Amino acid sequence: MPEKEVPAKRVRTRFAPSPTGFIHLGNIRSALYPWAFARSQGGDFILRIEDTDTERSSQAAVDVILESMAWLGMTPDEGPFYQMQRMTRYKEVLAQLQAAGYVYPCYMSVAELDALRERQMAAKQKPRYDGTWRPGRGKVLPPVPEGVQPVLRFRNPQEGMVAWDDKVKGRVEIANDELDDLVIARPDGTPTYNFCVVVDDIDMRITHVIRGDDHVNNTPRQINIFRALGYEPPVYAHLPTVLNEQGEKMSKRHGAKAVTQYRDEGFLPDAMINYLARLGWSHGDDEIFSREQFLQWFNLDHLGTSAGRFDDAKLRWVNAQHLKAMADAALAPLVAAQLEARGIAADERLPAICGLFKDRCDTTVALADWAQAFYRDVTPTADDLARHVTDAVKPAIAALRERLAGVAWDATSIAAAIKQVLADHQFKMPQLAMPVRVLVMGTPQTPSLDAVLALHRRELVLERLGC
Ligand code: GLU
Repeated sequence: MPEKEVPAKRVRTRFAPSPTGFIHLGNIRSALYPWAFARSQGGDFILRIEDTDTERSSQAAVDVILESMAWLGMTPDEGPFYQMQRMTRYKEVLAQLQAAGYVYPCYMSVAELDALRERQMAAKQKPRYDGTWRPGRGKVLPPVPEGVQPVLRFRNPQEGMVAWDDKVKGRVEIANDELDDLVIARPDGTPTYNFCVVVDDIDMRITHVIRGDDHVNNTPRQINIFRALGYEPPVYAHLPTVLNEQGEKMSKRHGAKAVTQYRDEGFLPDAMINYLARLGWSHGDDEIFSREQFLQWFNLDHLGTSAGRFDDAKLRWVNAQHLKAMADAALAPLVAAQLEARGIAADERLPAICGLFKDRCDTTVALADWAQAFYRDVTPTADDLARHVTDAVKPAIAALRERLAGVAWDATSIAAAIKQVLADHQFKMPQLAMPVRVLVMGTPQTPSLDAVLALHRRELVLERLGC
């Protein structure tokens, strides 16, 4: 009889940001890997907004998260789910846990806790809750103080180990006696962070938790709660931090920019994905790859173990490579959006303009700076005018202007006109091309002059050459 095939469990990952402060590149990298893993495995990617810190959470921060993910094309299959909207569910599960005997009330006041901590520190011990209110066989608990609302603590196992095979860190083992009994509900009954995360990961059927390693200390506690609730924990991968250029942990406080700012500064979503992917994962020596390649190649076996360091110059280089490789027709709408932000309406020439200038640009903003010369006045510097548009060259410029008034308006005819003027005035190409560029484009360095002029409207060229 053929063996019955066990269907592989469908992969489900999540990104669970706290909407406090604007999401930066370090944060969004924690979305990239779970998203890519779900996509590469044909699974589901879930977005969960961890907004229980009501003081620090804001709708504006949620909006930036949603906008950033939409821009980068990291579309969740489910969510956003908001933790604040799931309180009833957490309380329900808390009651189950309490009924099963895993939870006990603790009446220790803040002052008592502080005193306990001080005694422990003075004795060079690790500060931890000492189990005063933990019930035990034959143990007599202190009298319940009047008028005090207790917190609820989780009865953590006291013996044995919590262990998991982390996809980044390898085997991690923590002795249970290192962990004290965690507060899982506040005096007003609201459940605390670690508990909510476990309930969510269970309800959302998360198979792989891929998150920053600042959460690694929560993991053994969460695993114990999983088991108390009768579930096996998911697979964990704790990603090393992303450092900024100064080697500090990337944070808003240390000047990190919101992800959406990179969009505004002219970076391409696929280049961002490429760059961020390489900040903690590798595929051989491949530096430049497409979104499709990344999703095809990504797995949890090649995650890096050391902190990635952000490098602006490298990001620009990666962006420039993607920009160059992109089809002009695909690039044009992005540049059009940049121009529109400047009040400029582009036209059918834009794809060709992109094609001509993209090699010398690292962002769509730089490309829009070039394109702008085709739609708006240029302002050459006094220095460039004085240096290039000399009295000696002015007659040749006038002659070119006259010829350009009559030729067919294409690069070949324009090139022939330039050649004729050079011959007539005994000039070398740069002697004429530089001043013409300064007048028409506002700068002496541009791609091939005939191609540049052909993309302009004839009237505008004649007007700019009429110096
Ligand atoms: N909300 C947490 C954070 O923004 C993530 C928690 C998790 O992924 O388990 O750091």
